[in-house]
Amino acid sequence: MLNILDVLKTMNSNQKVNYDKILKKMIDRWQVESKRPKILLHSCCAPCSTYTLEYLTDFADITIYFANSNIHPRSEYERRKIVQQQFVADFNAKTDSNVQFLAAPYEPNEFIRLVKKNHLEMEPEGGKRCASCFQMRLDIVARKASELNYDYFGSALTLSPKKDSQLINEIGIEIQQFFDTNYLPSDFKKNNGYKRSVEMCRDYNIYRQCYCGCLFAASQQRIDLKQIQKDASDFLKNKY
Ligand code: SF4
Ligand code: SF4
Repeated sequence: MLNILDVLKTMNSNQKVNYDKILKKMIDRWQVESKRPKILLHSCCAPCSTYTLEYLTDFADITIYFANSNIHPRSEYERRKIVQQQFVADFNAKTDSNVQFLAAPYEPNEFIRLVKKNHLEMEPEGGKRCASCFQMRLDIVARKASELNYDYFGSALTLSPKKDSQLINEIGIEIQQFFDTNYLPSDFKKNNGYKRSVEMCRDYNIYRQCYCGCLFAASQQRIDLKQIQKDASDFLKNKY
């Protein structure tokens, strides 16, 4: 399968990398070679996966991988997981697709340990804690992709305007060298991807959370975690 490093070699190294353009080049190559790769795509809740699935399912077989031990509290984690799974089912039914869903174990202590060990508790959202958080999750996704023989691993996170897609792509490229799979470059917010995701959230009636996920950013943003816990617990009670 075409690797991003082969594409980067053909480009001017002084330019800021346009990862959306690189993904398009890869897709063109898959089509020329009549390939339909298998992609394990990380997503941390349904909104960023909406347009991303609409875009990628035309060219590849996708499995959404919910690997997000950063999310606090547990009830909110469970809520986002269920909403993600439900969106995959609704998307398949509406578009006659066959997107699969997998979830990693929830291990919040691993994330807390990582943050504390590196003294990242007080970092602002978008700072070094987020870089470690992306790194932790992409590493888990790459490991699983390699174990299950996926051609590529990637993340729907690049759809979010609040997330640094240059950084996410750089981390993904670095991680791929340790695994037997390829990183899928992306910048899904391009081509009006974010706008389309908002429309799709409305069409599919998708829950959109009010904080990124971790305890640290939520505390800094004075998110009422008791209310989050209550809303998530009510949601889960109604579900079961
Ligand atoms: S970046 Fe934010 S909106 Fe996007 S999937 Fe993650 S938590 Fe959800
Ligand atoms: S703000 Fe979001 S990306 Fe940053 S560390 Fe917290 S959960 Fe991870």
